Amino acid sequence: MADDSEGEKPETWENATRLVRGGTMRSEFGETAEALYLTQSFVYESAEKADARFAGDEPGFVYSRYANPTVKMFEDRLALLEGAEACRSQASGMAAVHLALMGLVRAGDHIVAGRALFGSNRWILNNWAPRFGVETTLVPGPDVAAWRAAVRPNTKVFLIESPANPLLEITDIAAVAQIAHEIGAVVVVDNVFATPILQKPLQLGADVVVYSATKHIDGQGRVLGGAILGATALLDEAYRDPMRHTGPALSPFNAWVLLNGLVTLDLRVRQQTETAAALADLIAAHPKVKACRYPGRPDHPQYEIARRQMTGGGNTMIGGGTLIAFDLGTRAAAFNMLNRLQIVDISNNLGDARSMATHPCTTTHRSMSEEQRAEIGLTEGWVRLSVGLEGAGDLARDIQRALDAA
Ligand SMILES: *Cc1c(COP(=O)(O)O)cnc(C)c1O
Repeated sequence: MADDSEGEKPETWENATRLVRGGTMRSEFGETAEALYLTQSFVYESAEKADARFAGDEPGFVYSRYANPTVKMFEDRLALLEGAEACRSQASGMAAVHLALMGLVRAGDHIVAGRALFGSNRWILNNWAPRFGVETTLVPGPDVAAWRAAVRPNTKVFLIESPANPLLEITDIAAVAQIAHEIGAVVVVDNVFATPILQKPLQLGADVVVYSATKHIDGQGRVLGGAILGATALLDEAYRDPMRHTGPALSPFNAWVLLNGLVTLDLRVRQQTETAAALADLIAAHPKVKACRYPGRPDHPQYEIARRQMTGGGNTMIGGGTLIAFDLGTRAAAFNMLNRLQIVDISNNLGDARSMATHPCTTTHRSMSEEQRAEIGLTEGWVRLSVGLEGAGDLARDIQRALDAA
């Protein structure tokens, strides 16, 4: 073994290497693939050992609601990719968002959030947090002044989703984080749409990053999962005990699936982004399309911000991501288009190897009132497309044919 000064430092690796090698803990059997530790609890050689383990005087696992070796490998690999000190994983993206927010507030506190949000994120802020005395002000994400104007003496958290669901609005994370930090608030970024490949919120000034691992991290439509990343001290203080005692733990089996999803994340996101950029141009140029939103296109309203912040932390590439939204004018046109697709599935999921298209008004954003939808510009003609790994030529043909029929 080389000494430390000559040893490989995983923090200096490229994303691709982090994703294949990061976090691996081999057992005494020297297995090639990461082991699946499908166990609820752990046994101790003696009562004294159990005592020491529980006291935290000796490292090791005690119960899989707290921590598990396979889950830890997933957390360590994702933390290495994100460039975060620590990661805690949860059973779903919503368990992660819920814990990320509720671990930071108490009765009487106030949250400011961008108003274009994943539906369940919005439900937590509007319907759940108020039951515990936590109020939220929703602001137009791209309007930096609106974030400042929403601040109250009791504001403790800013929640940013960028690009936001479903119309891919971009918020300037660095500018909003600066406002939050002036008043001592914590900045949480839901980075699902951007992925850890394209956007590094911690480098832009965020304190906490949350993921639905269900999306690009699995990327193959199999399991649910979620993660929270940030500084060790913040994660320990805000989330360690709530995580232990309320039980949103990720199953070791799902962690093992996600660990293998991470292996190909860099490759998949790059390829899907490249295909999405080409399809966005095709869609935008089609005569039936009233508007096309893709963060990688210069006609996106926040293109300049996207260019600055979706750069993979300077580590990879500049890219607009794997999602495209476009307006066909009416619900009938949108439905016609969706119904003509032969390769792309009609599905509300995203980030998958299979391309998927959905009509947000009647699916993912159905629970919002018409008024709330109008506020974020979501009308009945919009379709959201998640671009997968199929051949770009086949997808172009499928989408062209469906648009022609819209
Ligand atoms: C899907 C999604 C979530 C929730 O994740 P689940 O794994 O489905 O619970 C949260 N935020 C965004 C932006 C999402 O797309």
